[in-house]
Amino acid sequence: MDEFASIQHWTGDRQGACWQQKRGVTLGIGDDTASIDIGSAEDGIAGPKQLLLAVDTMVEKVHFNDSTMSDEDIGYKALAANISDIAAMGGIPLHALVAISVPPSYNAERIRRVYDGLYLCADKYGIAIIGGDTTSSPEYLVITVTLTGTIEKNAEIRRSGAKPGDVIFLTGPIGLSAAGLNLLLMTKVGTARSNLIEDELYRALLCAHQRPSPSVKAGRLLLHSGACHSLNDVSDGLASEAWEIAEASGLRLVLYEHRLPKAGSMSAYASIAGVNPLEWMLYGGEDYVLLGTMSSKLAPEVRDTFHAEGLPFYIIGETEAGEPAVELLSIYNDGDGKVTVSGKGSAASQQEIRQPLQKRGYNHFQR
Ligand code: ADP
Ligand code: MG
Repeated sequence: MDEFASIQHWTGDRQGACWQQKRGVTLGIGDDTASIDIGSAEDGIAGPKQLLLAVDTMVEKVHFNDSTMSDEDIGYKALAANISDIAAMGGIPLHALVAISVPPSYNAERIRRVYDGLYLCADKYGIAIIGGDTTSSPEYLVITVTLTGTIEKNAEIRRSGAKPGDVIFLTGPIGLSAAGLNLLLMTKVGTARSNLIEDELYRALLCAHQRPSPSVKAGRLLLHSGACHSLNDVSDGLASEAWEIAEASGLRLVLYEHRLPKAGSMSAYASIAGVNPLEWMLYGGEDYVLLGTMSSKLAPEVRDTFHAEGLPFYIIGETEAGEPAVELLSIYNDGDGKVTVSGKGSAASQQEIRQPLQKRGYNHFQR
């Protein structure tokens, strides 16, 4: 199969011209460029709008390998990770360009499966795939997705907008993807955990890692609330994302350990794996929930809106004026040194300990 036939095999008969037109596409795959009439895109934005642009790359052996992700998963996640960046501005994802570098180990059928996953995610989030580039690669698969989105003019929610006295929130539990990855890697090694991969309890962990759900709806709710001052998506880990807000906004973020949303399946697996779940929650990453700060006065109202929409919303801390920093506040009982759940035990017997959190997350250049 030549290059043109391959591209046709992966992308042909997927999204009809009529469907793409609703996203403002006047010319899709097949010419030197795609052409978009952004004004006619049915994105629900009535007034003036602005274009958002993001790009993300996934590299075999860095982001995935045969034992952690199926071919479909690779395509799905490459797009989902990108969608998350648009969600973290409060925008609506619209169009994707896909550059793929194909090694000998991936034949055209395998790449078609990568595209099956890609289109599954694209159709779920209403994204038109409008072009890309195809090259060979000597050894590993590389997939780069460029994504466009739209947002109301000058409405994007930046990392730099946090104000002292804001509450810090998360739109979902964290640490699931890292737990899922641990489970997948351990299963490969063939340990006693192999049977756990079939356990329904741990499906959510695998799903979080292989088919993450970017938080587009949450981003839109936050934008519409008018209460949100800063926003970031949790791709590299909570600590690292919190640091990005702290540095961009020039203040301190204090996270309350007992408020961090911990999924039962994640905790259960952490104890089997002998891992402190806090490690996955703070430094795991790839959860693609949103982390942000907002007016403390309006936060209860926003939480109610989220709950009414069936979406989780957790207030996990507060910002303070000061040098950029991220701290974890833990509550201990005097004497036994045990962590308590907020509200339990008398105030007199409780002690608050703050510890600085490292700017650590997944860093590709730490060797
Ligand atoms: P050109 O040589 O003008 O760059 P190509 O032969 O690379 O054109 O691509 C032909 C058409 O197929 C273009 O519309 C391009 O956007 C699209 N395309 C190429 N590779 C991919 C891919 N991997 N996924 C989706 N579309 C692709
Ligand atoms: Mg080309």
